[in-house]
Amino acid sequence: MSRYASYSGTISPNPSRFFLHILLIKPMYLCYLDESGTPDVPGNTPHYVLAGLSIPVWHWKTCDNDISLVKQKYNLSDVEIHVAWILRKYPEQVKVPDFNSLDHRQRRYEVEMLRKRELLRLQKSGNSKLYRQTRKNYRKTEDYIHLSHKDRKDFIADVAKCVSHWGFARLFAECVDKIFFDPVRTAQSVDEQAFEQVVSRFEQYLEITTPPSVKDKNFGLIIHDNNETVARKHTNLMKKFHHKGTLWTRLKNIIETPLFVDSQLTSMVQIADLCAYALRRYLENNEEELFKLIYQRADRKESIVVGIRHFTTSACSCRICKTHRA
Ligand SMILES: [Zn+2]
Repeated sequence: MSRYASYSGTISPNPSRFFLHILLIKPMYLCYLDESGTPDVPGNTPHYVLAGLSIPVWHWKTCDNDISLVKQKYNLSDVEIHVAWILRKYPEQVKVPDFNSLDHRQRRYEVEMLRKRELLRLQKSGNSKLYRQTRKNYRKTEDYIHLSHKDRKDFIADVAKCVSHWGFARLFAECVDKIFFDPVRTAQSVDEQAFEQVVSRFEQYLEITTPPSVKDKNFGLIIHDNNETVARKHTNLMKKFHHKGTLWTRLKNIIETPLFVDSQLTSMVQIADLCAYALRRYLENNEEELFKLIYQRADRKESIVVGIRHFTTSACSCRICKTHRA
Protein backbone atom coordinates (compact mmCIF):
# COMPACT_ATOMS: atom_id res chain seq x y z
CA MET A 1 0.00 0.00 0.00
CA SER A 2 1.38 3.43 -0.85
CA ARG A 3 1.66 6.01 1.89
CA TYR A 4 -1.03 8.10 0.15
CA ALA A 5 -3.52 5.28 0.21
CA SER A 6 -3.53 5.39 4.02
CA TYR A 7 -4.41 9.08 4.13
CA SER A 8 -8.02 9.58 5.14
CA GLY A 9 -8.09 12.78 7.20
CA THR A 10 -9.05 16.30 6.37
CA ILE A 11 -6.66 19.18 6.77
CA SER A 12 -7.50 22.10 8.99
CA PRO A 13 -8.13 24.75 7.84
CA ASN A 14 -10.13 23.74 4.77
CA PRO A 15 -7.75 23.66 1.85
CA SER A 16 -8.60 25.27 -1.46
CA ARG A 17 -9.07 23.04 -4.50
CA PHE A 18 -5.45 23.76 -5.36
CA PHE A 19 -4.18 22.47 -2.02
CA LEU A 20 -6.52 19.51 -2.16
CA HIS A 21 -5.09 18.60 -5.55
CA ILE A 22 -1.53 18.83 -4.20
CA LEU A 23 -2.42 16.94 -1.04
CA LEU A 24 -3.88 14.03 -2.91
CA ILE A 25 -1.18 13.54 -5.50
CA LYS A 26 2.07 14.72 -3.90
CA PRO A 27 4.03 13.88 -0.75
CA MET A 28 3.02 16.82 1.44
CA TYR A 29 4.36 17.97 4.79
CA LEU A 30 2.63 20.43 7.10
CA CYS A 31 4.84 22.53 9.36
CA TYR A 32 2.95 23.96 12.35
CA LEU A 33 4.57 27.10 13.73
CA ASP A 34 4.31 28.85 17.07
CA GLU A 35 6.44 31.02 19.31
CA SER A 36 7.35 31.37 22.97
CA GLY A 37 8.70 34.49 24.62
CA THR A 38 8.58 37.96 23.19
CA PRO A 39 10.60 39.19 20.18
CA ASP A 40 10.90 42.68 21.69
CA VAL A 41 14.35 43.65 22.97
CA PRO A 42 14.72 43.38 25.91
CA GLY A 43 11.03 42.41 26.42
CA ASN A 44 10.02 40.35 29.42
CA THR A 45 11.76 37.08 28.45
CA PRO A 46 15.51 36.57 27.79
CA HIS A 47 14.75 34.30 24.82
CA TYR A 48 12.48 34.32 21.82
CA VAL A 49 11.79 30.85 20.39
CA LEU A 50 10.06 30.05 17.11
CA ALA A 51 9.35 26.34 16.66
CA GLY A 52 7.97 24.45 13.67
CA LEU A 53 6.74 20.87 13.90
CA SER A 54 6.57 19.11 10.55
CA ILE A 55 4.39 16.07 9.93
CA PRO A 56 3.53 14.25 6.72
CA VAL A 57 -0.16 14.68 5.85
CA TRP A 58 -0.68 10.92 5.78
CA HIS A 59 0.07 10.87 9.54
CA TRP A 60 -2.10 13.86 10.41
CA LYS A 61 -5.02 11.72 11.57
CA THR A 62 -2.73 9.68 13.84
CA CYS A 63 -1.49 12.86 15.53
CA ASP A 64 -4.95 14.32 15.92
CA ASN A 65 -6.30 11.07 17.41
CA ASP A 66 -3.36 10.75 19.83
CA ILE A 67 -3.93 14.28 21.17
CA SER A 68 -7.70 13.79 21.39
CA LEU A 69 -7.22 10.65 23.50
CA VAL A 70 -4.93 12.46 25.95
CA LYS A 71 -7.37 15.36 26.20
CA GLN A 72 -10.24 12.97 26.90
CA LYS A 73 -8.28 11.32 29.72
CA TYR A 74 -8.05 14.69 31.51
CA ASN A 75 -11.57 15.87 30.69
CA LEU A 76 -10.20 18.50 28.32
CA SER A 77 -11.88 17.54 25.03
CA ASP A 78 -12.20 20.53 22.68
CA VAL A 79 -10.07 22.63 25.03
CA GLU A 80 -7.02 24.51 23.76
CA ILE A 81 -3.63 23.40 25.07
CA HIS A 82 -1.96 26.62 26.11
CA VAL A 83 1.00 25.39 28.09
CA ALA A 84 2.02 28.58 29.88
CA TRP A 85 -1.49 29.07 31.30
CA ILE A 86 -1.96 25.39 32.11
CA LEU A 87 1.25 25.08 34.12
CA ARG A 88 0.71 28.14 36.32
CA LYS A 89 -0.14 27.71 39.98
CA TYR A 90 -3.76 28.56 40.70
CA PRO A 91 -3.84 29.97 44.27
CA GLU A 92 -7.59 29.31 44.66
CA GLN A 93 -7.00 25.56 44.43
CA VAL A 94 -4.77 25.71 47.51
CA LYS A 95 -7.55 27.48 49.44
CA VAL A 96 -10.10 24.73 48.77
CA PRO A 97 -10.02 22.18 51.63
CA ASP A 98 -9.16 18.65 50.42
CA PHE A 99 -9.11 19.83 46.81
CA ASN A 100 -7.48 16.62 45.59
CA SER A 101 -10.18 14.41 47.09
CA LEU A 102 -12.99 16.20 45.21
CA ASP A 103 -14.28 15.10 41.83
CA HIS A 104 -13.85 17.36 38.77
CA ARG A 105 -17.30 18.92 39.07
CA GLN A 106 -16.86 19.74 42.75
CA ARG A 107 -13.38 21.19 42.18
CA ARG A 108 -14.70 23.46 39.43
CA TYR A 109 -17.60 24.63 41.62
CA GLU A 110 -15.32 25.49 44.56
CA VAL A 111 -12.72 27.33 42.48
CA GLU A 112 -15.34 29.29 40.54
CA MET A 113 -16.96 30.36 43.80
CA LEU A 114 -13.65 31.69 45.17
CA ARG A 115 -12.91 33.46 41.91
CA LYS A 116 -16.28 35.19 41.79
CA ARG A 117 -15.78 36.35 45.36
CA GLU A 118 -12.30 37.70 44.55
CA LEU A 119 -13.53 39.58 41.46
CA LEU A 120 -16.30 41.23 43.50
CA ARG A 121 -13.78 42.23 46.14
CA LEU A 122 -11.44 43.77 43.53
CA GLN A 123 -14.32 45.58 41.85
CA LYS A 124 -15.26 47.19 45.15
CA SER A 125 -11.63 48.09 45.94
CA GLY A 126 -11.49 50.41 42.91
CA ASN A 127 -8.19 48.89 41.66
CA SER A 128 -9.37 48.57 38.08
CA LYS A 129 -5.98 47.51 36.67
CA LEU A 130 -5.67 44.58 39.08
CA TYR A 131 -9.33 43.70 38.50
CA ARG A 132 -8.85 43.51 34.72
CA GLN A 133 -5.64 41.50 35.06
CA THR A 134 -7.23 39.04 37.48
CA ARG A 135 -10.30 38.67 35.27
CA LYS A 136 -8.03 37.91 32.30
CA ASN A 137 -6.07 35.31 34.34
CA TYR A 138 -9.30 33.61 35.34
CA ARG A 139 -10.62 33.57 31.78
CA LYS A 140 -7.38 32.10 30.39
CA THR A 141 -7.31 29.31 32.98
CA GLU A 142 -11.02 28.52 33.44
CA ASP A 143 -10.89 25.39 31.27
CA TYR A 144 -8.26 23.76 33.47
CA ILE A 145 -9.40 24.50 37.05
CA HIS A 146 -10.77 20.98 37.58
CA LEU A 147 -7.21 19.64 37.39
CA SER A 148 -4.69 19.89 40.22
CA HIS A 149 -1.25 21.28 39.44
CA LYS A 150 0.10 17.72 39.31
CA ASP A 151 -2.70 16.63 36.94
CA ARG A 152 -1.90 19.54 34.65
CA LYS A 153 1.83 18.73 34.63
CA ASP A 154 0.99 15.08 33.88
CA PHE A 155 -1.31 16.17 31.06
CA ILE A 156 1.37 18.27 29.34
CA ALA A 157 3.94 15.49 29.84
CA ASP A 158 1.53 12.97 28.25
CA VAL A 159 1.11 15.24 25.21
CA ALA A 160 4.90 15.65 24.95
CA LYS A 161 5.26 11.84 25.13
CA CYS A 162 2.97 11.56 22.09
CA VAL A 163 5.27 13.95 20.21
CA SER A 164 8.33 11.94 21.27
CA HIS A 165 6.76 8.78 19.78
CA TRP A 166 5.97 10.37 16.41
CA GLY A 167 9.00 9.05 14.55
CA PHE A 168 7.69 10.64 11.35
CA ALA A 169 7.68 14.20 12.83
CA ARG A 170 10.57 16.67 12.68
CA LEU A 171 11.11 19.68 14.91
CA PHE A 172 12.76 22.86 13.65
CA ALA A 173 13.43 25.89 15.84
CA GLU A 174 15.42 29.05 16.28
CA CYS A 175 16.04 30.00 19.92
CA VAL A 176 17.36 33.55 20.13
CA ASP A 177 19.17 34.70 23.25
CA LYS A 178 18.34 38.39 22.90
CA ILE A 179 21.36 39.54 24.90
CA PHE A 180 23.57 38.46 21.99
CA PHE A 181 21.30 39.67 19.21
CA ASP A 182 22.55 42.68 17.24
CA PRO A 183 19.83 43.96 14.88
CA VAL A 184 22.29 46.28 13.10
CA ARG A 185 24.64 43.42 12.25
CA THR A 186 21.90 41.05 11.16
CA ALA A 187 19.80 43.81 9.52
CA GLN A 188 16.74 41.95 10.77
CA SER A 189 14.51 41.89 13.82
CA VAL A 190 14.60 38.92 16.21
CA ASP A 191 11.41 37.37 14.84
CA GLU A 192 12.41 37.92 11.20
CA GLN A 193 15.67 36.07 11.76
CA ALA A 194 13.86 33.24 13.54
CA PHE A 195 11.29 32.91 10.75
CA GLU A 196 13.96 32.88 8.02
CA GLN A 197 15.94 30.21 9.87
CA VAL A 198 12.98 27.91 10.47
CA VAL A 199 11.74 28.28 6.87
CA SER A 200 15.25 27.52 5.55
CA ARG A 201 15.61 24.39 7.67
CA PHE A 202 12.17 23.10 6.74
CA GLU A 203 12.98 23.69 3.04
CA GLN A 204 16.29 21.84 3.34
CA TYR A 205 14.58 18.94 5.08
CA LEU A 206 12.05 18.70 2.22
CA GLU A 207 14.82 18.78 -0.37
CA ILE A 208 16.97 16.18 1.37
CA THR A 209 14.08 13.79 1.89
CA THR A 210 12.79 14.14 -1.68
CA PRO A 211 13.38 10.87 -3.52
CA PRO A 212 15.53 10.99 -6.70
CA SER A 213 12.44 10.81 -8.89
CA VAL A 214 11.23 14.38 -9.47
CA LYS A 215 7.61 13.31 -9.77
CA ASP A 216 7.70 12.37 -6.07
CA LYS A 217 9.04 15.76 -4.98
CA ASN A 218 8.12 16.64 -1.39
CA PHE A 219 6.02 19.73 -0.85
CA GLY A 220 5.63 21.72 2.35
CA LEU A 221 3.11 24.16 3.70
CA ILE A 222 3.50 26.34 6.80
CA ILE A 223 0.57 26.68 9.19
CA HIS A 224 0.76 29.41 11.77
CA ASP A 225 -1.21 30.56 14.78
CA ASN A 226 -3.28 33.55 13.68
CA ASN A 227 -1.54 36.44 15.37
CA GLU A 228 -2.38 39.74 13.72
CA THR A 229 0.98 41.29 14.52
CA VAL A 230 2.94 38.58 12.71
CA ALA A 231 0.51 37.49 9.98
CA ARG A 232 1.23 40.37 7.61
CA LYS A 233 4.96 40.38 8.36
CA HIS A 234 5.40 36.64 7.77
CA THR A 235 3.25 36.70 4.65
CA ASN A 236 5.39 39.47 3.16
CA LEU A 237 8.61 37.74 4.20
CA MET A 238 7.45 34.51 2.61
CA LYS A 239 6.65 36.29 -0.66
CA LYS A 240 10.18 37.71 -0.59
CA PHE A 241 11.67 34.26 0.08
CA HIS A 242 9.73 32.84 -2.88
CA HIS A 243 11.20 35.48 -5.17
CA LYS A 244 14.75 35.82 -3.84
CA GLY A 245 15.28 32.83 -1.56
CA THR A 246 16.32 33.08 2.08
CA LEU A 247 19.85 33.90 3.14
CA TRP A 248 20.53 30.15 3.10
CA THR A 249 18.48 28.56 0.37
CA ARG A 250 16.04 29.01 -2.50
CA LEU A 251 12.51 27.78 -1.92
CA LYS A 252 11.77 24.89 -4.24
CA ASN A 253 9.56 22.75 -2.08
CA ILE A 254 7.62 25.02 0.27
CA ILE A 255 4.50 26.36 -1.42
CA GLU A 256 2.32 29.40 -0.75
CA THR A 257 2.51 31.90 2.09
CA PRO A 258 1.70 30.58 5.61
CA LEU A 259 -1.87 29.63 6.36
CA PHE A 260 -3.05 31.33 9.54
CA VAL A 261 -5.42 29.36 11.72
CA ASP A 262 -7.15 29.78 15.07
CA SER A 263 -4.99 27.94 17.60
CA GLN A 264 -8.07 27.31 19.75
CA LEU A 265 -9.43 25.08 17.00
CA THR A 266 -6.28 23.48 15.62
CA SER A 267 -4.62 20.98 17.95
CA MET A 268 -1.38 20.73 16.01
CA VAL A 269 -0.62 24.45 16.37
CA GLN A 270 -1.06 23.94 20.11
CA ILE A 271 1.60 21.21 19.95
CA ALA A 272 3.99 23.67 18.26
CA ASP A 273 3.25 26.02 21.19
CA LEU A 274 4.23 23.22 23.59
CA CYS A 275 7.50 22.60 21.72
CA ALA A 276 8.43 26.32 21.70
CA TYR A 277 7.59 26.57 25.41
CA ALA A 278 9.66 23.47 26.30
CA LEU A 279 12.71 24.81 24.42
CA ARG A 280 12.50 28.23 26.08
CA ARG A 281 12.00 26.83 29.58
CA TYR A 282 14.96 24.50 29.13
CA LEU A 283 17.20 27.38 28.07
CA GLU A 284 15.99 29.83 30.70
CA ASN A 285 15.20 27.59 33.69
CA ASN A 286 17.00 24.35 32.87
CA GLU A 287 13.65 22.50 32.94
CA GLU A 288 14.41 19.19 31.28
CA GLU A 289 11.33 16.98 31.49
CA LEU A 290 9.43 18.34 28.47
CA PHE A 291 12.58 19.32 26.63
CA LYS A 292 13.96 15.75 26.67
CA LEU A 293 10.75 14.44 25.15
CA ILE A 294 10.27 16.92 22.32
CA TYR A 295 14.00 17.19 21.54
CA GLN A 296 13.88 13.58 20.34
CA ARG A 297 12.10 14.92 17.26
CA ALA A 298 14.73 17.57 16.43
CA ASP A 299 15.82 17.19 12.82
CA ARG A 300 19.22 15.48 12.73
CA LYS A 301 21.83 14.64 10.19
CA GLU A 302 23.37 11.54 11.71
CA SER A 303 24.27 12.67 15.26
CA ILE A 304 24.22 16.42 14.53
CA VAL A 305 21.08 18.37 15.31
CA VAL A 306 20.60 20.55 12.23
CA GLY A 307 16.98 21.55 12.82
CA ILE A 308 17.36 23.54 16.05
CA ARG A 309 19.82 26.31 16.87
CA HIS A 310 20.49 28.27 20.03
CA PHE A 311 21.61 31.74 18.89
CA THR A 312 23.86 32.79 21.78
CA THR A 313 27.49 33.06 22.86
CA SER A 314 29.89 30.45 21.49
CA ALA A 315 30.71 29.54 25.10
CA CYS A 316 27.24 28.10 25.69
CA SER A 317 27.31 24.46 26.70
CA CYS A 318 23.59 23.68 26.63
CA ARG A 319 22.49 20.46 24.98
CA ILE A 320 21.23 22.27 21.88
CA CYS A 321 24.57 24.01 21.33
CA LYS A 322 26.54 20.81 21.98
CA THR A 323 24.49 18.71 19.57
CA HIS A 324 24.25 21.49 16.95
CA ARG A 325 28.04 21.99 16.88
CA ALA A 326 28.81 18.27 17.10
ZN1 LIG B 1 23.15 26.91 24.01
